[in-house]
Amino acid sequence: MTKGSVRFEGVTKHFDDVVALKPLDLDIAPGTLVTLLGPSGCGKTTTLRLVAGLESPTSGRIFIGDEDVTHLSATYRKVSMVFQSYALFPHMTVAENVGYGLTVKRVSKSELRPRVEEGLAMVGLEGFGDRLPSELSGGQQQRVAVARAIVLEPEVLLLDEPLSNLDAKLRRHVREEIREIQQRLNLTAIYVTHDQEEAMAVSDRIIVMKNAEIAQEGAPADLYERPNSAFIADFIGDANLLPVEVARSGETVDIVFDGRRLTLPTAFSTTGQANLVLRPHQLRLSHEASADSLPAEVSYAAYLGNQVQYTLDTALGEIFAVTVPDATPFRKGDTVHVGFDPVAARIVSI
Ligand code: ATP
Repeated sequence: MTKGSVRFEGVTKHFDDVVALKPLDLDIAPGTLVTLLGPSGCGKTTTLRLVAGLESPTSGRIFIGDEDVTHLSATYRKVSMVFQSYALFPHMTVAENVGYGLTVKRVSKSELRPRVEEGLAMVGLEGFGDRLPSELSGGQQQRVAVARAIVLEPEVLLLDEPLSNLDAKLRRHVREEIREIQQRLNLTAIYVTHDQEEAMAVSDRIIVMKNAEIAQEGAPADLYERPNSAFIADFIGDANLLPVEVARSGETVDIVFDGRRLTLPTAFSTTGQANLVLRPHQLRLSHEASADSLPAEVSYAAYLGNQVQYTLDTALGEIFAVTVPDATPFRKGDTVHVGFDPVAARIVSI
């Protein structure tokens, strides 16, 4: 059963001279939430609009379930979209907004009411049907937009930066609700964001895009643990990227690091110049030198209560480190030794 799956076969999109999408192959499994993540202009929204039928591809084919929808107009696609701006009608009540798409589809009045009520209940807004959108908070308005999308029983739910208009605290709350509804209804969802933390928090899989193509895709933990490039290492979580020479590659690697040869239990396929990826919270600061440590000078120390953040100057460049608060924190100007765990370290190409 492929109901709810989405497949792109060699889809491209050009706007005159602008290549918004290079040939793209996608396979989204039914019932999963897949996020398109990437910097501004990388082609996320274009990809979403192609699924919705709001754009047509320059070449290639698009399938929803088993159906080739490449040339099917948006009206006939079984998809619903939730926009950043909510796009609620201000003069209509919440119930009228939620029922709008059903009215357009000429669903009978007797069927309309229970479906609207069910939709409002799904997003926890029972009893709000008679209010106007202006009488709701931003988070509640976005839940109305989600209810309006899901009462149409789409095979695919499309969400275009749905949390951008909400403040930081509410954003976490609403993203949990969206994820919970998507899982409960077993909906296929494609979610667009440029916020990596949000992507990590809601997704089964993340597709990171850069320059109109896929840079890497995988489960959140795959991208964090096994970045395939310096771009991904830096984009998914904080990373220090230090220049090293890979002297031997394979299932484990030998690197020349600050003049010393170290073996790391991580796979890498080429030799030569590369980057060592060190996550700030995996670093160890000590008064004593060790085989894998680098001497450094503390150029900035910030006590944040639950953590201490250090900016460190080393011969290989600046390093950002995060430690738990300590009774004897290091101070600006101190000399320290920064060590890392070879098991956690990764190598990526430059
Ligand atoms: P953002 O995060 O800023 O929304 P995005 O990753 O969603 O960016 P897209 O909106 O898909 O990026 O745009 C991809 C490229 O296509 C950009 O270079 C953009 O300027 C261009 N583009 C998008 N829509 C059009 C259009 N209607 N006409 C011309 N160029 C367009």
